[in-house]
Amino acid sequence: MKPKIAFFDFASCEGCQLQIANLEESVIDVVGLVDIVAFREVMKEASDDYDIAIVEGSIARPIDVERLKKIRENASILIAFGTCAHLGGIQRLSNQWTPQENKEEVYGRHEGAEHTGDDNPFFEQPRHRALDEVVDVDYVIPGCPVNREEVGKVLVAILTGKKPPIPDYPVCVECKKKENVCMFEIGKFCMGPLARAGCGAPCPTAGNECEGCRGFVSDPHVKAHTEVLAKYGLTADDIMRRKNMFTYRYIEKSKGGE
Ligand code: SF4
Ligand code: SF4
Ligand code: SF4
Repeated sequence: MKPKIAFFDFASCEGCQLQIANLEESVIDVVGLVDIVAFREVMKEASDDYDIAIVEGSIARPIDVERLKKIRENASILIAFGTCAHLGGIQRLSNQWTPQENKEEVYGRHEGAEHTGDDNPFFEQPRHRALDEVVDVDYVIPGCPVNREEVGKVLVAILTGKKPPIPDYPVCVECKKKENVCMFEIGKFCMGPLARAGCGAPCPTAGNECEGCRGFVSDPHVKAHTEVLAKYGLTADDIMRRKNMFTYRYIEKSKGGE
């Protein structure tokens, strides 16, 4: 009997599921090892009988919490799929403001706007959260979006009882192997010294700053790429504070959050 896999989505752009829906050869090999029993983007049928739940998106509403808890009860293994599920996503930045402020930012302050969006349950909720702030999560596949090859490797590892091969060293390591000119050398700022590798450093390789979409290494104050930090007179805290598009969860934590 093949293990049964079900995909679920919460607050997200669904781009991570698309990485699987747009099947390529490497993923097809993996999908052949399992039975997909629920996947809204590609099939109409949906079953509550599954072994592995692959969950995309952040948790914002009470109804999301209840739904996620039921998924957790049903699944032997629950995987947080992509940055929204892993860290709360870009939308977590909205936690900085009150629901009323977010509503005004979206709908403006014109006459009548106080009623606009009243049927949008998002505005009832002050916070976006990652999955592991609500239920136990067994594995994380990081990235915005997830990397197809990594998804395949992680699923094969889980299915064969091995530890998923998610690196716990910084993007700088992969970037330096590619002999890129460092972003700091050209006056830009980069989160590579703290960001978790495994993506192959595509952003600095293409001339863009790493934004840390895969989150930080597990102990950034110890595992940061100290050579780069020292060269540019930076500390791990400097990097953490400077940008937060994907990493606002760490800022909340430093302020006494979860
Ligand atoms: S992690 Fe990025 S690509 Fe994936 S669902 Fe969230 S916003 Fe979309
Ligand atoms: S700081 Fe950025 S550009 Fe510089 S080596 Fe690290 S990942 Fe590459
Ligand atoms: S280089 Fe940084 S921002 Fe780009 S994919 Fe890797 S972790 Fe994400």
